[in-house]
Parts: sequence; C-alpha cells; structure tokens
Amino acid sequence: MRLRSFALCAVPAMMALASPASAQSGFAFPSCLASLSSGPGGQLNRLVPAEAKGPLARQVRGVVARALTWRPGQTVKVCFKSGSRGAHERVIRVAREWMQFANVVFDFHENGVPRQCRGGEDIKVDFVDNKGWWSAYGTISRQRDPSMNLQFFGVDTPRYTNGQPASELELRRIILHEFGHALGMMHEHQSPSAECDSEINWDAAYRMGTNLGWDKEMVHSQMRQLTNVEEFNMTAVDRKSIMHYSLAPELFKLGRNSKCWVPDNNDLSEQDRRFMASVYPRDGVPVASTPSTSSGGAGATRGAKPPVALVNDKEALIKQYEELLKQAGLAADKIAQLTREFRTNVFGQ
Ligand SMILES: [Zn+2]
Repeated sequence: MRLRSFALCAVPAMMALASPASAQSGFAFPSCLASLSSGPGGQLNRLVPAEAKGPLARQVRGVVARALTWRPGQTVKVCFKSGSRGAHERVIRVAREWMQFANVVFDFHENGVPRQCRGGEDIKVDFVDNKGWWSAYGTISRQRDPSMNLQFFGVDTPRYTNGQPASELELRRIILHEFGHALGMMHEHQSPSAECDSEINWDAAYRMGTNLGWDKEMVHSQMRQLTNVEEFNMTAVDRKSIMHYSLAPELFKLGRNSKCWVPDNNDLSEQDRRFMASVYPRDGVPVASTPSTSSGGAGATRGAKPPVALVNDKEALIKQYEELLKQAGLAADKIAQLTREFRTNVFGQ
C-alpha cells in the first residue's frame, strides 16, 4: 500500500524462509513483492502533513482513507490479463467471498465469460510468475495496470516447486488477502495497535531481508508498525485477520511464544467481516455474516451501527481535503502541491 507504487504483497513465502520444510513443499518464492515501494505509512503521511495536528489530522486521514475505498454498492469491474479459464474461475470463486460482507459488486464477466482486459477496468489481474503476489490498494487499482499479480496461479492446477499441486487452502488464502488489499485493507500485523516492533528479532529480520534482496528500509516497510493509519484498520489488532502475515517464529525474540507470531490465517476473521461491512455498509439493513467455506465461524452481525457518512463525490472530497489543509495553516503552494498529489494518486486525474 503505497500511494505511489501502492503495491502490496502477500504472505506465505516469508514463512518458507526460515522453514526449510515448507520451502520444499511451497512455491519457494522468497516473499511478497514488497520491493515496489516505500511503505504505506510514509506515503500516507505525505498526504497527511505534519502541520495538521490532533483532530484535524484525523479528519485529513479520514478523507484520504475514504478516497481510497470504493463507494458502497459500487460495481467494480475486474478483468484478467492472462491465465487459464480454470485460473479465472478460481479467482472469481474466492474473491466473491468478500461480497458476502462488503457491499461492493465485483463484476468479473462479460458476455458470460471471465472478462479479458481491454482498458478502463477497475481491477486488472495478471499472473506473471516470479513477480510476486501483490495488489494495488483500493481505488488506486484504477491507475495501475496490472493492479494485482498472482504469480503461479495462472493455470488450472498451480503446483509447488516439487511438482505437487498447491493446496486449495493456500491459493484461497492468498487470493482473499490480495482482494482484501484491493478493497482497501492494510496488513494487520502492521496495525498501529499491533505492538510487535519490540517483539521482532530485527537481526533475524534483516538476515531474512538479505535473502530476499531487501534493504533495511524495505524490511521496516514490511514489518514495522504503521502510524497514523488507524482508519484503515480495526482499532484493536486482529491476529486472526486474513491480512496478518504468518511470519516465521524465528523472527521473534520469543519465537512461537510471541503474541505476534500467528499460524496461517486461512479465513476471513470475524473482524475482517465486520470491518468490511462497516467500510461498505448496506444502508439500514443489518448484515448477518455467514460462515465462509473453510471454517464454521460464528456469524457476526453488523447490527444497528449506523453507516458512516460517506462522501462519494470526487470533487467534493478533493475540496474537503484542500479545505482541511487550509485549516491546518499550510502555505498556499504546499496546499496546491498536495491537493494535486491527492487528486492524481487517488483519482488518476
Ligand atoms: Zn499483503
């Protein structure tokens, strides 16, 4: 999630690093394609300048956050740039699970078949091998082509490096995670309330980074707690979130005993579901979540929580942003520059 390259990576391969057994049976890809950018926190903080303090900063962040999510009820056109029909069907089947909770319509088809990209679609899925699992963040997807990459998944039967068919559970987990980013979700392990920075064995993390070709800055951008982005995450950290990395226990000072170590999360957590329902509400209608396929999770009910007021009009949002910067007392040229950046980054204008 970086406004500039805004790409985000996935998940499971980090585990494989410190775990030879899973490396043998996995895709043996070093990790999520993090190398595209400098981390969400930094980039978001650019749009939330230091001059905006306290409640005002919160308002600015809220505007930025809203601009990066789709409108509730919006039809989001998804297309495929490559991949087999079986690959498309898998992605469609899995990604649709989000629609049980988020009031967004992923539209995958044209004339009854999975849509090939022609230009102008919202989310553009590619399957370029060795280029990572990642997705652009929220509405930034419109400006990226491709906006999501699902390496190794472009065939009917994706296989691990040892030739064995990949587990459907793992494929599903990664697809759900990437579509979580496409809906605007950030990494849960970097939640402002995660409090994992002090749990991490940073020397081990840097060694891992070296293996991945990451410099220290990249390691930080992938693992350090984010600041000032609470609008993008649940308030309390959710260790069961599909957006939480399962990091190797060796990366923590306390190993598996660290509160920050979690096993693979294969499913949308209770909080994932509630969060999506709050970001993409169905006006006035309480949404009862249903258990998704692989676990019998208890249903969450969004209940009577009123939908947040959402500003859907692009220009109104830009105006609001500009106005808040004025209130923060920024110099005119800085306001103009940031507003331009906001407009360009967020709306592709
Ligand atoms: Zn990710």
